[in-house]
Amino acid sequence: MPKKTHANILATLGPSSSTKEQIEKLIDAGADGVRFNFSHGSHEEHKERYNIVRKLEKEKGKYISILADMQGPKLRVGKFRDESVYIKEGDYFTLDMKDELGDATRVKLPHPEIFHALKVGDELLVNDGKIVLTVDECDEKHAKTIVTVGGYISSNKGVNLPNTQLNISAITEKDEKDLKFALKLGVDWIGLSFVQSADDVRRAKEIIGDKAWIITKLEKPSAIDDLDEIVRLSDAIMIARGDLGVECPLQKVPVLQKKIVSVCRRFAKPVIVATQMLESMITSPMPTRAEVSDVANAIYEGADTVMLSAETAAGQYPEEAVKMMKKIIVEVESDKLYYDIMVNTRNQPKCMTEADAITFAATEISDVLRNVSAIVTYTSSGKTTLLAARERPSQTIIAITPNIEVARRMALVWGTECHINKDPFKSFDKVQSTAIETVTENNYAKSGDFIIITAGIPFNKSGITNMVQTLLIP
Ligand code: PEP
Repeated sequence: MPKKTHANILATLGPSSSTKEQIEKLIDAGADGVRFNFSHGSHEEHKERYNIVRKLEKEKGKYISILADMQGPKLRVGKFRDESVYIKEGDYFTLDMKDELGDATRVKLPHPEIFHALKVGDELLVNDGKIVLTVDECDEKHAKTIVTVGGYISSNKGVNLPNTQLNISAITEKDEKDLKFALKLGVDWIGLSFVQSADDVRRAKEIIGDKAWIITKLEKPSAIDDLDEIVRLSDAIMIARGDLGVECPLQKVPVLQKKIVSVCRRFAKPVIVATQMLESMITSPMPTRAEVSDVANAIYEGADTVMLSAETAAGQYPEEAVKMMKKIIVEVESDKLYYDIMVNTRNQPKCMTEADAITFAATEISDVLRNVSAIVTYTSSGKTTLLAARERPSQTIIAITPNIEVARRMALVWGTECHINKDPFKSFDKVQSTAIETVTENNYAKSGDFIIITAGIPFNKSGITNMVQTLLIP
């Protein structure tokens, strides 16, 4: 197993990574979590992969996060008569609700909610933004558009409406079925796609409850307008740069990435940078220099996790892609500048709670006291540990939790190592001796080192962090 790093790797599983042998290679190469993309694959396939991952988790003695990523309200045009048609800039092209096959003048758009929301001047982007249509006239059944950017269009191509707020839920009928299935399997995280507002996250929370944590995928400009509230309500955020780069001008994506990472760090919410990180490794054993820089920059920004999509799901070099990503993370994390940046970009909330203040104090102590080797957090929900991770300390963060679900979720959190301890802590002596045992047996600290403990008292009650203590290892 490669060196444990602060930043984590999330690898998407697919046809190139579906057997036990293939998935084991990804985990051995350094994957900390896996993503099931519910836009592809059957329930049967996801279940098979789920069982393999849980088996490997036991064999490797490493907690692995499983993310079930919902397709969400992905909008698509209907079918064309021919394989593809060319629509020319300056021509009219109509979108309607008729059940006839499409041609160079029109096609069905089977989403009445779009026609209800469209206004003259709105833009529809087709096929990842390659074709741009501007609405010239519209009613509740059709939209006559002018082709602003022409190109080839074919059946079922995706449609994005960057500036139109649609009256659709982030959870479609398909998602409801997928969600039920994924929660029954026991996945750790649910990915919500095409979230438009904080209300979408609220509704999802009502359905999911505490059965899994929610990763909100940021890919719509309207979600960015509601950024603070969405981050506050979500358990983690994914910067879904694929669709974000269609919905926003491409040059804004790196700027938004920096802003989102910073807000997530302020709210102590894990943040995942996703899409096209090592894209050329789908077909090549070596990435481009620019891709290597992209991964490195995400790590220097303080991302908790970096994600591989088609590279591991459908590429020719899935294992090599994870190995490459790991090498980049190791290299950045061995740079002193990285730790200086982590300290200088610490982002505490303006109005601190008791838990924030306790964790802040623990970080201050670990900064000024010599020989602090680990910060030990006792947590039943994971929240105390997330606060410690927000500070991006140079020491390892240890989470001691009675809950395996929490240990698995924490696999995507910056700098955190999880240990399960199911004993109810009856005395503070026991808390101290468990911390010492955990750090020494796992070589996080040795005799003469300090560790810092943060916890909530009474123990096993979620949502409190009210204690900090230094402890010298005898
Ligand atoms: C993205 O758009 O970047 C993304 C991760 O979403 P998906 O791959 O599910 O479309």
